[in-house]
Amino acid sequence: MGSAVLLDAIGAIRDWSVAEAKAPRARADDAFGSLVFHDAVQQARLPESIYRALRRTITHGEPLDLSAADAIASAMKEWAVEHGATHYTHWFQPLTGITAEKHDSFLTPDGDGRVVLEFSGKELVRGEPDASSFPSGGMRSTFEARGYTAWDPTSPPWLLKSGNSTTLVIPTAFVSWTGEALDKKTPLLRSTDALSKQALRILRLFGSPAGRVVTTCGPEQEYFLIDRYFYLARPDLINAGRTLFGARPPKGQELEDQYFGAIADRVMAFMSDVECELCKVGVPVKTRHNEVAPSQYEIAPVFENANVATDHQMIMMETLKRTAPRYGMACLLHEKPFAGVNGSGKHLNWSMSDDEGNNLLGPGASPHDNMQFLVFCVAVLRAVNRWQGLLRASIASAGNDHRLGANEAPPAILSVFLGDMLTDIFDQIEKGGAKSTKHGGELDTGVLALPKLPRDAGDRNRTSPFAFTGNKFEFRAVGSNQSIGYPNIALNVAVTESLDYLATELEKRVASGRTLNAAVAELLPKVIRENKRIIFNGNGYSEQWQKEAARRGLLNLKNTVDALPQLIDPQVVALFERYHILNARELHARYEVMLETYNKTINVEGQLMVLMANRYILPAAFEYQKQVAQSVAAVKSAGATSVEGKRTLTQVTRLVDALKRGSDRLAKALARDGGRSAEQHAKHYRDAVIPAMDALRGVGDALELLMPHETWPLPTYREMLFIK
Ligand code: ADP
Ligand code: MG
Repeated sequence: MGSAVLLDAIGAIRDWSVAEAKAPRARADDAFGSLVFHDAVQQARLPESIYRALRRTITHGEPLDLSAADAIASAMKEWAVEHGATHYTHWFQPLTGITAEKHDSFLTPDGDGRVVLEFSGKELVRGEPDASSFPSGGMRSTFEARGYTAWDPTSPPWLLKSGNSTTLVIPTAFVSWTGEALDKKTPLLRSTDALSKQALRILRLFGSPAGRVVTTCGPEQEYFLIDRYFYLARPDLINAGRTLFGARPPKGQELEDQYFGAIADRVMAFMSDVECELCKVGVPVKTRHNEVAPSQYEIAPVFENANVATDHQMIMMETLKRTAPRYGMACLLHEKPFAGVNGSGKHLNWSMSDDEGNNLLGPGASPHDNMQFLVFCVAVLRAVNRWQGLLRASIASAGNDHRLGANEAPPAILSVFLGDMLTDIFDQIEKGGAKSTKHGGELDTGVLALPKLPRDAGDRNRTSPFAFTGNKFEFRAVGSNQSIGYPNIALNVAVTESLDYLATELEKRVASGRTLNAAVAELLPKVIRENKRIIFNGNGYSEQWQKEAARRGLLNLKNTVDALPQLIDPQVVALFERYHILNARELHARYEVMLETYNKTINVEGQLMVLMANRYILPAAFEYQKQVAQSVAAVKSAGATSVEGKRTLTQVTRLVDALKRGSDRLAKALARDGGRSAEQHAKHYRDAVIPAMDALRGVGDALELLMPHETWPLPTYREMLFIK
């Protein structure tokens, strides 16, 4: 791009210096949680009995009475106001991908012309946002549009500082008046309860005194950072979050000189600011590094319980986006902002833990512990095999379609990577009674003894969508722009069913007089045999695997339109109803909203492409065509023939015509009614609109490579990805 924008951008980048970053802030350990109404603050500020009641609510789900809620609200308000807060908000996660908040002031007129700062238990516990504009997938008709927000005491409130305002943010669930869940948090909380109940049955058999099991998760977030000038000059980035045109640059990621490389000063300043902000609101960020693609990075927190981690993950995405402009940059969370280089994912590290903090997917030291570990591990294996469709659907989106099913990132086929050692152990168990394992000098104690599994086994596999990484599973197919709510729920429900099955089978055997050892030794080989088709340690990108997976009967749902119906498969509906996670209506609503979101996304992208072709690229191309024509004519009138000039003119003319035809064809496809149902629309977008978009892009990108740098109207990949 040759315009003033590029010069502005380059000037700003040249003149930017680290000195602009803020001075060093408070020590990280002092700042951590300083804006959170966390346990220690609660303990310090609440009367002992109220604090105890609140803890019981948090750890055991016991109801709180209104007087306790009043006391908590009042302490919360005092604390918030001392920190400069003027407003509070019930913060929730509607069925769209974002979070929602409506701010209310603490100010209440006292009737004598003055105001007092008030916040009652009732206001804390329940809010009534005007919710009629949130998608509900047909669950609410407009006359019953009201939904209400209900305080989630298990996720601590925090203070949102923005500009000169401070707001107390209260995490809440969002439900309709009939009690149906209109959000992602409610089913997540329900699924955690369900999983806890079934996991405890297994733990009981092993003699554990645990009172509760939670799921833990640590999401690794990938993102791109580019200069804001470039971002602002690209209507596609602003409106669709990804580039819809853009020729591959001469240099992409082939030199592999970015992954874990030194971090540029400006990026580092941004990262450290983000980390500082996140620490203050209690998000335990831990690692940062350069990712594989140019201008791609990663940030990861330490794992937490899944509910809090899911809230924190939303805060993390918002903080990344909000902080970038302060450093003259834009943060792109889309799964595929740039064609031809890696897209971004969110690796969802997931495990289960009892209330003593024991990781249930950590191989133990004794044969007894190892046996328990194997039962939980096999439960996950079985869950992924049995509910692969549900897991695939939980991460389906137009953005993620560019990763899964395309030739990168994990494939759309779900499989489990166990690593050689664990696979070997499973093999031997299946064959009945392993005495030792391939790698095992240290073990030998019995049927189910394990060697100590190294945390970072050498055989890490980057192509697996679902990998065992020593003491947790890593669901790697999740998209960078997605809430981890749905994948967490899907995993919880699937594993709940598996644990239920295993617990029932084990209990039956123990009740009929077998030892637990014997029961496990009898059951596991069968479960492994029935589910081992899901184990795959090889290269997930290969053509061979596609064939092999088909032979094994694994699902290969390459796009959102294929994947989403899994959500309303009768077996999945029965699964969700059986554990009271979502009823059929609630599940259908999510299916509909996800499908609608897909349709709207493709529609916006298609419209944008038409706009960019007609109003950006075409005028520039006409201009160039004219220049070349004038040059050819000038050469001719001077008595010579410009062979290359004519050839270029033909080429430009062909592309200009093709561009216009392509954009007309796309506009027509967009206008055509794809049928009346959302499903038919979606299929039309997938089968007619997306191919028309791809064709148009091909022509646009060819023009970019032909046209002079100065007259190309958009920042190019070469500039956006490499000038920083
Ligand atoms: P890796 O190199 O395997 O990606 P890390 O130790 O860097 O491993 O961890 C990656 C993420 O996994 C971090 O967010 C970390 O907190 C998380 N994690 C570690 N243990 C668990 C666990 N038991 N449950 C959930 N997440 C975990
Ligand atoms: Mg990882």
